[in-house]
Amino acid sequence: MRQRHDLLIAGTHVISMDPAIGDLPHADILVRDGEIIDIGPHASDRQPGGVQVIAAEGTVTLPGFVDTHWHLWNSLLRGTVGDSAGTDYFTVKRALARHLKLDDFYWAARFALAEAVNGGITTVHNFDHNVRSPRDADANIQAHLDSGLRGRFSYGPPDSAPSDRTNDLDDLAKLRVRWTSDHLDGRLDFGVALRGPYRTPPEVYEREWKTARSLGLPITMHCDRCLREEGCRSCGLVRLEQLGLLGEDVQVIHAVHAEEDDIAALARTRTRVSLSPLTEMRTMGFPLLTELLEAGVQVSLSLDTLAMPTSADLLGHLRAIISVEAARTGSPAITPRRLLQLATIDGARDLGLHDTIGSITPGKRADLVILRTSDINLVPSGDPAHALVYTGQIDNIDTVIADGRVLKRHGRLILDEDDIDPIAMATSHRDALLRRAAAAGDWPPPAGVAATPSPTTEERSLL
Ligand SMILES: [Zn+2]
Repeated sequence: MRQRHDLLIAGTHVISMDPAIGDLPHADILVRDGEIIDIGPHASDRQPGGVQVIAAEGTVTLPGFVDTHWHLWNSLLRGTVGDSAGTDYFTVKRALARHLKLDDFYWAARFALAEAVNGGITTVHNFDHNVRSPRDADANIQAHLDSGLRGRFSYGPPDSAPSDRTNDLDDLAKLRVRWTSDHLDGRLDFGVALRGPYRTPPEVYEREWKTARSLGLPITMHCDRCLREEGCRSCGLVRLEQLGLLGEDVQVIHAVHAEEDDIAALARTRTRVSLSPLTEMRTMGFPLLTELLEAGVQVSLSLDTLAMPTSADLLGHLRAIISVEAARTGSPAITPRRLLQLATIDGARDLGLHDTIGSITPGKRADLVILRTSDINLVPSGDPAHALVYTGQIDNIDTVIADGRVLKRHGRLILDEDDIDPIAMATSHRDALLRRAAAAGDWPPPAGVAATPSPTTEERSLL
């Protein structure tokens, strides 16, 4: 891993996201061995020798953003998905998923995580729904560790797996043997990505839930529409509660068709919900942010996939959802600061990391994003939180620090001399992937496939 230095971030406006600290308009942040040691106007007084000073006048510093659901493996599909016949996300995904090789999984994840760094995202939940072999899982985990970022790897089935086949539960049980805490560097943990009762029969989901819970692994699942019952509009969250499948260890994704009683079931069981505003609005419907927050549900935000109309521009996501909620519900509770909370401490809480990251608090790890507030799109400005959500963009991100390591500086990703450029690798691996799929007769997908709206209900649930 890249070397870690002690850091002094000097003269920044701190938006701590810690209610006990609040905003500090002109403060220093002292970081030692990757841990936030001190914050405040006089943190520099405790400056140890050998510290690397980051002059941060004219900036705002936030906790690193937390993404809670991202299919890193299909990042190579960016540029292949479109609006014409046969180019919708689901058709492309199904055509290409089986042609990815080990190196493709590694570089897809490295590429996406490099984009995460660029966008100030320092924690990513990798929801892997194309684990074709244990080695594929290992390639994803290695890529995550090599990226310098923090997160969770959730072990799913291969793409288009038959509904009567469980995830590889034997290998799931071996993960913590292959990957010890020494390997994981305190930055990665594991979960399991399940399809749930609306896509798999009881003998599958019951065994999967039981295994996950016996291993102490958190569960994540997509929730869109109910498949197994006529007339059912949602994935059946009330029924999931009755079956004992919800709880604090379960993260439900999307839930855009949840009814009032579904949302009540989520709140009662303290089930987490991850919303992906841009992909939801593209293929499913409006995210129910206002309704979920009003019911007291633990909500966080996610990108979902780079193959759809998405990039790691989280500030763009915040701007989209604040505008949509203004038009849809007009809720006064959906403020720029509430959204920054969703993107930081609430994401950390979803992943069980709120004591480690998610706010700028002494004793927590140093996952930080520093943005230039003197850039033309952010001036003149009042409250910097308003400015960032209403007009902020990736170009404003000057420095990104993950676990005390500086991964972006002066607006550029930092690559060591022996680092391979993930952008070049993603491009060459994507081209080779398409050539292999074409040689097998899978690419381009057969003509005559309907353009949008093409996904079946079942496919929608797999986003
Ligand atoms: Zn998804």
